[in-house]
Amino acid sequence: MYADVAVCLPLTRTFVYEVTELVEAGSRVIVPFRKREVEGFIVGVRTEAPKDVEVLPVATIIDRSPLIRPDIFELCRWISGYYIAPLGEVLKSSLPPGISAKHVESGLGTGDFGSRISDFGWRESALPTPGSPNPSEIRNPKSPAFVPCLTLTEHQLGAFDAIRSCNGFHTLLLHGVTGSGKSEIYMRAAEHFLAAGKTSLILVPEIGLTPQLTDRFTQRFPGLTAVLHSSLSKRQRIDEWLRIYCGKAPIVIGTRSAVFAPLQNLGLIVVDEEHESSYKQEEVPRYHARDTAIMRAKRSGAVVVLGSATPSMESFRNAESKKYEYVGLTSRVEDRPLPEVEIVNMREEYTAQSKQVVFSRRLLQAVAGRLERREQTMILLNRRGYAAFLLCRHCGFTFQCTSCSVAMTYHRSIDKLLCHYCGLARRPPARCPECDSEYIYYVGEGTERLESELKSLFPDARMGRIDRDTMRHLRDYERVLGGFASGKIDILVGTQMIAKGHDFPRVTLVGVVGADAALSLPDFRAAERTFQLLTQVAGRSGRGDQPGEVVIQSYFPDHYTFQLACTQRFEDFYARESRYRKAMFYPPFTALAGIMVMDRDAGRAATLAREIGEFLDSLRSTAVRILGPAPAPLERIKQVHRHQLLIKSSSRGVLHRMLEQLRAHLEERKIGATRVIVDVDPMSLL
Ligand SMILES: [Zn+2]
Ligand SMILES: [Zn+2]
Repeated sequence: MYADVAVCLPLTRTFVYEVTELVEAGSRVIVPFRKREVEGFIVGVRTEAPKDVEVLPVATIIDRSPLIRPDIFELCRWISGYYIAPLGEVLKSSLPPGISAKHVESGLGTGDFGSRISDFGWRESALPTPGSPNPSEIRNPKSPAFVPCLTLTEHQLGAFDAIRSCNGFHTLLLHGVTGSGKSEIYMRAAEHFLAAGKTSLILVPEIGLTPQLTDRFTQRFPGLTAVLHSSLSKRQRIDEWLRIYCGKAPIVIGTRSAVFAPLQNLGLIVVDEEHESSYKQEEVPRYHARDTAIMRAKRSGAVVVLGSATPSMESFRNAESKKYEYVGLTSRVEDRPLPEVEIVNMREEYTAQSKQVVFSRRLLQAVAGRLERREQTMILLNRRGYAAFLLCRHCGFTFQCTSCSVAMTYHRSIDKLLCHYCGLARRPPARCPECDSEYIYYVGEGTERLESELKSLFPDARMGRIDRDTMRHLRDYERVLGGFASGKIDILVGTQMIAKGHDFPRVTLVGVVGADAALSLPDFRAAERTFQLLTQVAGRSGRGDQPGEVVIQSYFPDHYTFQLACTQRFEDFYARESRYRKAMFYPPFTALAGIMVMDRDAGRAATLAREIGEFLDSLRSTAVRILGPAPAPLERIKQVHRHQLLIKSSSRGVLHRMLEQLRAHLEERKIGATRVIVDVDPMSLL
């Protein structure tokens, strides 16, 4: 017998090996490959050997019965085809690292495998109607530690009914303003499917940023929830995976790769904060977990709920064209008003104060008021470190990383210049290395500087900071967020990490500093990302009894992104942004793929990029536009030069055929997927 094997290497084609025992598709094997042994997956079996090719025998069969179930196997095939990704690498990423058949045998124990979730005896709680007197009376008798359901508002009830009335595969876009209570709807939906004997998968962008949702699920469904994320140890991840595989955990919460969780009888997939770019894997295989989740649901007849306060342009477009069902949650819980948003013109501030300042007088006055009234403040600045860069005022020299084409950021606590791309650190010089002048200035503030300025302005205020420098572990988040939640911190400063789903009822002021930087990134999604960030962070204000206020500082206060962030009317932003995307042929109105050519030698990178451009031109398709090749905005990272091409097409089919032809052409020329990256539906063009 012979087997087609997809090796776990950046190669799209498969290879034939001889096997002496019965094997199934999905089994892992070790095979001899170009004078070494590599891991691979059996993707097909055949009785006849191919002609004119030397066929080697498989060295070892790792799993006799495959750990990958047929539905996940087919999902991997789809990913491989859609994202032009090597099948072997996709299959490998669908399993937890280090798992073996032995784990499964011991995990199955004494016939637990037969237990189905319907045996858990979960009964859906009776639904409280809006204003029903005592919702905590409603309880599940079999649930060991009962956590009361909250009463649903009329809008929440409407959304829940929309989910409940779905019959088979259906995608809903749950567009709920911040604070509208989406998590409660997710839990009700999971409970509904559990009672029907079906499993649920809840995807979240980052576990550390959504501890509240995870906690609420594990409390509401004790013993039935598995959590999958990257902070788990190898062993923990295998254990959680096994609980799911054996049918012991019918509810799974996890980040991106949890889309491969081996749930059977899937009823529901929730993608919370569906617009988040962390759902896109930025290494091979470059899949988008949201779109993969929809594909998985389609194959298993499940309902998909995409939740967001600021839907992605792609999802809103799909709702507009009726591909998704649109469900709006327009009111906040208890009808709390949306916060007042005010934009401070920093150019006027500069004129009035005759100097560059970090904080406007308006923002400082608002902070002082909060401290007096013992209310809390959050200040967002999307740049960590102390200063953005060091500049010689005499000759204009800036300190660039020697390996990457970016300025190095000054971190005062360690007194070092750091490259945020490769981690290179160096001591800041006292004099300019170019002209020997001593006029070296720190330009552009980071979170570290913000914190220290606030400390000197408000010496009695208790401060906390959340960014990648202060948050090394999950417990760091818990400590600072816990301190803020219990009122031990007055002012919380941080990067976009603070903008995510936290619920702090005593926050009545959110300040946004340096919002212009995000808007000026050379990426067609810059305005969309800025709008999302502003709306998310604004939503942190006024979640309790007191109304909230938001102060945004900008040098471009008239930009439509800021103006529309004031009203927080997503539909207006969508309409305005759509005009630009249509005119420029960008998603969601065209299909887009990025091709990144990488080489340590600048000349070789440019030459190969040009050759790829010529090859694509030779395919002469009228349905595509090719941009480039050109140096990428970040031309060099870790000493590797990067040149890119963008392909836009009105036809996804044409784009895919073109990319497949390119991949085959490159493999023929023995140019691997590590030198030329093909990124379908790219999330970042830097
Ligand atoms: Zn100089
Ligand atoms: Zn660097």
